[in-house]
Amino acid sequence: MINGYTFSKLSTYSKTWLCSNRFSYKCEAKIKMDELERVTESHLNHNHSPPQYYVSPDGKYVKIRCEFKIIDSPKGGRLIMINGYTFSKLSTYSKSWICSNRFSYKCEAKIKMQGLERVIESHLDHNHPPPKYYVTQEGKYVNTFMRTTYKYVKLW
Ligand SMILES: [Zn+2]
Ligand SMILES: [Zn+2]
Repeated sequence: MINGYTFSKLSTYSKTWLCSNRFSYKCEAKIKMDELERVTESHLNHNHSPPQYYVSPDGKYVKIRCEFKIIDSPKGGRLIMINGYTFSKLSTYSKSWICSNRFSYKCEAKIKMQGLERVIESHLDHNHPPPKYYVTQEGKYVNTFMRTTYKYVKLW
């Protein structure tokens, strides 16, 4: 990982590492490394913005495939949205956020947050499809399960 961009090895014995987004963006950024993993050559002109990563507790970079959003829900609560799934806080002072569909689906997906900035732990295996959300004219997200009087604008 360099400057937030990730590279993957061309082949097992190759010294060339290509941008992990080369297929999606036809990006031609690449680096060469020697046996000691020192960079000997680099072409770092990406034609796209860096993928979004967070660091998991065991030091791995985990990609947030879609996006990470903080949503103020119409009822005044706060939700975190990751890849279209929403999480709500277990309790006011808790660091744990659990899947908003935990009751309907007995889903056990959850995350732990340090403030609202950093995911310190995540279990993102949901046993259901993402809920459908709508964004209201005020820019608020409304769950289709919540019966409200907001006017809906379809988001997806
Ligand atoms: Zn690239
Ligand atoms: Zn879930």
